[in-house]
Amino acid sequence: MTPPEQAVIFCGGLGTRLRPLTNDLPKPMAPVLGRPFLDHLIEQLAESGIKRVLLLSGYRADQIARHYASGRHAGVAIRCQATPAEWETGQRLAAAQPLLDERYLLLYGDNYSPLRYASLWSRHLAGQRPLTLTVAPKVTGNIRLHDDGTATYDSSRTQGGATHVELGYMIVERDAIAALEPAQGSFSRVLSQLSDQGRLAAFDTECAYESISDLARLHQLETHLRPRRLLLVDRDGVLNRKAPRGCYVQHRDEFVWIDENVAGLAALAQAGFEFLIVSNQAGVGRGLFTLDAVDTLHAWMLAELARQGIVVRGVYVCPHHWEDHCSCRKPRAGLFFQAQREHRFRLDRTLYLGDDVRDVTAARNAGCGSILVGDEHPEPDAPPDLTVPDILAAVPWIVARFEHWEQSFATPSAAN
Ligand SMILES: [Mg+2]
Ligand SMILES: [Zn+2]
Repeated sequence: MTPPEQAVIFCGGLGTRLRPLTNDLPKPMAPVLGRPFLDHLIEQLAESGIKRVLLLSGYRADQIARHYASGRHAGVAIRCQATPAEWETGQRLAAAQPLLDERYLLLYGDNYSPLRYASLWSRHLAGQRPLTLTVAPKVTGNIRLHDDGTATYDSSRTQGGATHVELGYMIVERDAIAALEPAQGSFSRVLSQLSDQGRLAAFDTECAYESISDLARLHQLETHLRPRRLLLVDRDGVLNRKAPRGCYVQHRDEFVWIDENVAGLAALAQAGFEFLIVSNQAGVGRGLFTLDAVDTLHAWMLAELARQGIVVRGVYVCPHHWEDHCSCRKPRAGLFFQAQREHRFRLDRTLYLGDDVRDVTAARNAGCGSILVGDEHPEPDAPPDLTVPDILAAVPWIVARFEHWEQSFATPSAAN
């Protein structure tokens, strides 16, 4: 089996709550940072290896057809399938049956979430269900997750116990759900039937998700998408000299700055960069010192960095013992996802700067790039994007990488 290369997007929404932005536009064409929302979605799909996109349009289908008249965007082939505006999602998909690949990625035309495609695909393969939904944590959700990887879908949100919400971004086996497709009605009926049969699988993206359901959320999405000079940085071995094996830097008296790295961060700050720190501190879990002591040290550390113009927007610490098997201890990516949810940035548009091969692995698990700093490390299994003796040596490369991302955001088609 191979991952889908076709994406199918429901584009029939009216966008009533987005007026006046959508006075004569279908909802997926609502402008986000000056371009239609659909453009951003298709660019994301292109980066994940999607080759063909099928747009299932209805209301003001002419607007979508005109915008994609060339049949391509960001290197992806686009096909528009217009159906009557009053049709519902299930009906649109049923009518598109002859145009569907055997396996495809199905999206709603109003949700946006980091597409962790390799992880979603692994989940689909492991789950062996006809449909794998992407979900994210939400208090008033419509999805309950089960230990066997299946999910219960509660479209009316009445059953209670739902801890997640479904975002679309689902992998669908065409033939396995063909019999369920309603000739009329909403696609959510298909999800309900699969759920009742125990044939619905779910992938928890753990990342922040966005939507254009109303103007406030559309502006939040703009924050998420807007290019931003934000870097993730490790602490021990990058900001300060590491303590000997099994020992920890607990107090400012033991905190020895690595000058070349701090100078590098200062140069990056001059170029407009801000920082988040991501650090394992298992000494807390081992009972050697308290999280309060870590916070006290970090308050001093951030003040010292600020004196050099280095702005740290957040510090993320895993306090657990490695035997706790938590989801946040690097090389797991839990802290990266927590930072992403709280600061709304694109993990695939940033880098993690660490001194350990596990930092490279953690960055890969989080979907961001990595720079391996220093020379006291073995060969990593998978190479980082760059290896440097210190951060100062990496400054021109980092600036160039972000400039490339900024340019490709401004002119996406030229970049592909
Ligand atoms: Mg380190
Ligand atoms: Zn942890």
